[in-house]
Amino acid sequence: AKHQGRNTWCCFAPHMLSDAADRLDIRNGLAQALQRDELLLYYQPQFDLASGRMIGVEALIRWQRPGHGLVSPARFIPVAEECGLIVPIGAWVLRTACRQMAEWRAAGAPHLVVAVNLSALQFGRGNLEQDVRAALEQAGLPAGWLELELTESILLQNPDQVLAIVQRLRKLGVSLSVDDFGTGYSSLAYLKQFAVDKLKIDQSFVRAIDAQPDDTAIVRAIVQMAHSLGLKTIAEGVENTAVLDLLGKLGCDEAQGYHYARPLPAAEALPFILAAQAQ
Ligand code: C2E
Ligand code: CA
Ligand code: CA
Ligand code: CA
Repeated sequence: AKHQGRNTWCCFAPHMLSDAADRLDIRNGLAQALQRDELLLYYQPQFDLASGRMIGVEALIRWQRPGHGLVSPARFIPVAEECGLIVPIGAWVLRTACRQMAEWRAAGAPHLVVAVNLSALQFGRGNLEQDVRAALEQAGLPAGWLELELTESILLQNPDQVLAIVQRLRKLGVSLSVDDFGTGYSSLAYLKQFAVDKLKIDQSFVRAIDAQPDDTAIVRAIVQMAHSLGLKTIAEGVENTAVLDLLGKLGCDEAQGYHYARPLPAAEALPFILAAQAQ
């Protein structure tokens, strides 16, 4: 096993070698993926529960790697975070998502928000505020069309530094949500201090909420707490109508998941947006 303390034997298993080789291989390929234009974004629709209207999309990265097919972010984002490539990749995601949303806006999309996932390193090493500003300016997209998703661990990692950046981002007019909420350690004090707009309830609590009384209690508590702090809630991982109905009863504001749509390639997202608008 790998994570052992001092003075313990660390057995060397063949899978560790292949893990390491795997990561090295991903890292080498990823270094060129940006220049070779192998990265792309999919977009998953988000909906308002009360009105049923589409309110936005979450941008989710994919890697079209020659000889490997479409590689999932679960495989390469951790490697990109490890080696620092997440900083230029993150800037590319911001530029691409903003440019795409500006195109859809020009094509007649109603006011929507594009939500972009951020990594901790973008707050540390990168110049996030500059990247966000540049992405909006180059695309000609109003800041109110961009949302940034942060995780609880980003907020807690280096609170003073992150808070300063978050405040400057808010001044630009972008909105902020806390991703995977409930899986980390956020305290109420942090939520208040960071003045985020929305909590994104982690899909592990949502997926089987109709069959799990504990999950129902957790989601109810998150929604109540969020509302009393003036925050909205969005549930991710909504896969069926039973879950959707229960979320509505619990007062959750918004939802996203396979029930509505899987993440869509950009070319399929515009027809989806226009059809949703017409309903
Ligand atoms: P996440 O931000 O929590 O994104 C939600 C994940 O749940 C996505 O997986 C999405 O496809 C999946 N999902 C959505 N609805 C459902 C559902 O109803 N059922 C189930 N089972 N899954 C659902 P995906 O696209 O594979 O992304 C995985 C993770 O990779 C993301 O988790 C996020 O942490 C990271 N990621 C993706 N794109 C980016 C990016 O541009 N930058 C950074 N830093 N991380 C990213
Ligand atoms: Ca997310
Ligand atoms: Ca999430
Ligand atoms: Ca997640």
